[in-house]
Amino acid sequence: MAELFRQLPPAAFVSTPLTCSRGWTRGMPPPPSVGALLFASYKTYIGTPWERPSSTKHRLLTGSFSKNFFKRKFLLRTSLKASAVPIEENALFEEANTPSVPTESEDATVREYVSALEESGEPHVAIVQSDSQVLDNGLGKSNSKSRRELFLRDSGSTTVAVHGGEQKRQGKKARAILDAITMPIVQSSTFTFRSSSDCIAYNQGQYDSFEYGRYGNPTTRAAEEKIMMLEEAEDALLSASGMNSVTTMLLALLSPNECLVTTRDCYRRTRQFLQTILPRMNIQTIVVDPADTASVEAALKRGARLFFSEMPTNPLIRVIDAESIIQLCRRYGTICCIDSTFATAYNLKPLCMGADLVLHSGTKYLGGHNDLMCGVLAGKKEFLEKIRSLHGILGGVVDPHSSYLLLRGMKTLPLRMRAHNENAAALAQVLSQHPKIAKVHYPSLSSHPDYSVAKTQFKNGFGGVLSFEIRGDPFGMETFAAGIRFVDGLSIPHIGPSLGGVESLVEQVCVMGYFDQPQRVRRELGITNGLIRFSCGVEDKTDLLNDVLQALEAV
Ligand SMILES: *Cc1c(COP(=O)(O)O)cnc(C)c1O
Repeated sequence: MAELFRQLPPAAFVSTPLTCSRGWTRGMPPPPSVGALLFASYKTYIGTPWERPSSTKHRLLTGSFSKNFFKRKFLLRTSLKASAVPIEENALFEEANTPSVPTESEDATVREYVSALEESGEPHVAIVQSDSQVLDNGLGKSNSKSRRELFLRDSGSTTVAVHGGEQKRQGKKARAILDAITMPIVQSSTFTFRSSSDCIAYNQGQYDSFEYGRYGNPTTRAAEEKIMMLEEAEDALLSASGMNSVTTMLLALLSPNECLVTTRDCYRRTRQFLQTILPRMNIQTIVVDPADTASVEAALKRGARLFFSEMPTNPLIRVIDAESIIQLCRRYGTICCIDSTFATAYNLKPLCMGADLVLHSGTKYLGGHNDLMCGVLAGKKEFLEKIRSLHGILGGVVDPHSSYLLLRGMKTLPLRMRAHNENAAALAQVLSQHPKIAKVHYPSLSSHPDYSVAKTQFKNGFGGVLSFEIRGDPFGMETFAAGIRFVDGLSIPHIGPSLGGVESLVEQVCVMGYFDQPQRVRRELGITNGLIRFSCGVEDKTDLLNDVLQALEAV
């Protein structure tokens, strides 16, 4: 039997990339149509140098399919129509809605295969079996040791060094993995198949597993599934960083000559991508004030393909009227994606409000401990499929260890968010009444420009990040120095970029994130010399308040 495998020309196993058509890529969720899948997989085997299957090879092929073959034969038949789409290696870029019709070459080959099968009249026996079955049958007796184990017993030291003690597919170690209370970190770049028939079933979408780390990983998928539940999303996709999610999403959903709408206050690197990279593809960005819903509508009327905004925005904690904008997007057929990094699903669920996609820098609140980097996209399957296909090509993959940390972090997301919300609201309240503070940017305050819009849209609070401005000439040297005295006078928060972790972080924006930006640019964006961004951690509220008050005394 093993001999039979050896006889197979290698080409028989390497033609699978041709089957990645109709918007489906291996390792990614299979397409819905079983009929179409079947053609893909048959082609895998049949698109080989053989003119016509000989009877031994024929049996082998038959064996692979015997279980369900007859059940499906009628499906093959009914779908065998002379047709249309030529196969191309880059079929991935075909529109996902290309009809699932067999190609002419598939048609002919499958016809030939089916008729050869009928002519032979041979019994169709399953001869592709797992290691242990092969062993049992081969020796004619039951034996608990697999073929692999027996083989290793007689192998050289290097073979043993490579394979000894490694993962078994049954027994205590395999069970313990399933019984572990936490999702194990599956630190594996590739996933193997017990047999070729499993591999075929996998490609047919009938054997649920993973194939290669760039297309998915069990630990990562567990995190994605937790996100799907938190966001009430049809699907989710993790990537290496929030920026990777932003760039992959934009590249996947926008085509040359299209345009998108975004808000002025925005994560700096997102703006940079919109302003410097997308124009190379002739993709233009219309920038509006977060409160300017009328301009959003005007842009959508002009045919903008995508609306993309943070909510709240960074660093001025502005809030768009998402409810109205989502309705407008629906009316004009515009894709709506909300970066809700600052809010998280605890405070805001854009998908439940009707948005198509929600994006997070998982580096921030979702991870929650300043110890990982990842990006999250969740939402409608049709968009996630497009993005996942491109993600498999661009390759911004999150590593399984980070996925594990994310899973662990998200377990306490509501507990942490409660503390973040409470700390920021308390700090905003105290600072808004402090004589040395000119302005506080936080939507719980009635002085905030988006106060009334924010109140109706957020469920539990506005997140842990607030910003505020030290009193003085907004772009004067003394205000700059006062900001530095304040930041350096604090004891609890660390000085650093980022946000969303259990540790409080503080930055004077013009010294940190916008250090390299000329004042002209900062004036346009409202980044004054005394603008402080404060990311409240989960420390005790009174400790944070006391620390901020004592540091203000030095200002
Ligand atoms: C941090 C951040 C990003 C980028 O995420 P990374 O994980 O740092 O790549 C995008 N959007 C917002 C609102 C962010 O705060």
